[in-house]
Parts: sequence; structure tokens; C-alpha cells
Amino acid sequence: MIADIPLPTTDDPTDAPFWDAAMRSQLVVQACARCKTARHPPRAMCPYCQSMDVDWARASGRGRIWSFAVPRPPLLPAFASLTPYVTAVVELEDFPGIRMVGLMLDRVSGEIGNIDPTLFEIGDGVEVRFVKFAEDVWLPCWRPRD
Ligand SMILES: [Zn+2]
Repeated sequence: MIADIPLPTTDDPTDAPFWDAAMRSQLVVQACARCKTARHPPRAMCPYCQSMDVDWARASGRGRIWSFAVPRPPLLPAFASLTPYVTAVVELEDFPGIRMVGLMLDRVSGEIGNIDPTLFEIGDGVEVRFVKFAEDVWLPCWRPRD
């Protein structure tokens, strides 16, 4: 748990289904009900056909590191004690082109902080793990796949 970090609101109707699923350890992706194009982050209108009709599709939670960063001080106080940690952009295996940002977890301990960033490379396989940050906020984080 990281204390005092800014957390997303989870009651906005546009993305509430994403957060509801996360609380059940399920990764979902918003998709247009008309043209079926998946998108992330969730938004009210399809950027391709302007439909306001929305569906949600369950994702496998598997993906590959598309990019990553190792934040360095100066950092917000809540993050300073975690260094080194890794923030990754992960492309989902079953939704090519959909990328999600999340913290990497240590392969063994499952912890966010104090991990060796040299263990990660672009293209590495990862799988989602949900980490509870508040009663209603379970953030998708990423663990290396074997
Ligand atoms: Zn559409």
C-alpha cells in the first residue's frame, strides 16, 4: 500500500464499470456497441463513429511491456520511499493497440517498491494483478510472466 497518493474517482458513470470489475480482479476494456472498436481509457463517446453506446469486454490480463520508466527523485513524498520502482505501459495480448499504464510488481515478493528495474525489458510478457489502494480502488498492476 502506498499512503497518500492521489487516487482516481470510481463513481463516474463513464469508467465505473472498469473500477467495479477491478474490485473483482477482472480486467475489462470498453468497446463501442456500434462499431465494436475497443478503447482505453474509457470515454463517453466512440472516437471512431461517435456512438454513445458502450459495451465492456473482459480481457485476459496478459500483455507485453510496450514501454517503461524508472522514476527518479525528486518525487512526490508518497513515492520517494518506493524507489526504485517501475511504471510500465502494457499492450494487452487480446486487444492489440490497447495500452494500459500500471506499476510493475516484483516477480517474487509481489511488492511495488524496491525492485530491480534492470530485470525488465520492452517486450517482456506480463500478467495483471490487482492491488488494493482503497476500499473502492484496486489498481491494475503488472507482474512478469514466466
Ligand atoms: Zn464506434
